[in-house]
Amino acid sequence: MSETIEFQAEARQLLQLMIHSIYSDKDVFLRELVSNASDALDKVRLASYVDKDVTVETDDLHVELVTDAENRTLTVRDNGIGMTREEVVELIGTIAKSGTAEMLAQMKDAGSTEQTAELIGQFGIGFYSSFMVAERVEMTTRKAGTAEGVHWESTGEGTYTLEPVPDAPQGTAITLHLKPEDAEDALHDYANPDTVRRIVKRYSDFITWPIRLNPGEE
Ligand code: ADP
Ligand code: MG
Repeated sequence: MSETIEFQAEARQLLQLMIHSIYSDKDVFLRELVSNASDALDKVRLASYVDKDVTVETDDLHVELVTDAENRTLTVRDNGIGMTREEVVELIGTIAKSGTAEMLAQMKDAGSTEQTAELIGQFGIGFYSSFMVAERVEMTTRKAGTAEGVHWESTGEGTYTLEPVPDAPQGTAITLHLKPEDAEDALHDYANPDTVRRIVKRYSDFITWPIRLNPGEE
């Protein structure tokens, strides 16, 4: 029951820029994912205030980071608001934000790689920055208050697949299958918990939700 869908044209353009990593500070991908997770936790708390729906879970809201050195993956998980299938298509498959469209327009005029990098820093890159460090990204998400989740997967090359997941936990889990070339560089080995700890400290220190690294292991 897997479905293959094409990224919108602008999304494809931005993904190509990420895959070929014209931005040198790749570590920022984690800041983007943790910030999305934190937003999702804010949103689920707000949703629970608004409609007091018992099917929205608000116990132990947190972010979890799990490194797997053997399989060379990094997973960022939250038990926040999650996304419906329609939201995944809309929010992840397209670039709806005017800011990003503007950024792409300015990039076309940017003469140098440094100028382009500056634009990315200025506008923020969001979820697609995962493709700076991952050759493949998997996401399983279930919107709070709904019954069924969805699994999203892509190499960032043109298309993504969607598949229903009957028993997904509330919120979003994003697994990055890391590019093999980063494994050789200890500072940028994102399957190494020390690397992840350092980046979180640098970029996500201000996040108010608990961020747990490899819970259950220590
Ligand atoms: P931005 O965060 O600036 O909106 P992103 O590219 O980072 O841009 O994310 C796009 C959208 O995808 C978000 O606005 C949000 O609606 C949705 N999204 C991304 N990550 C998550 C998540 N962990 N949980 C719920 N929704 C998410
Ligand atoms: Mg974001």
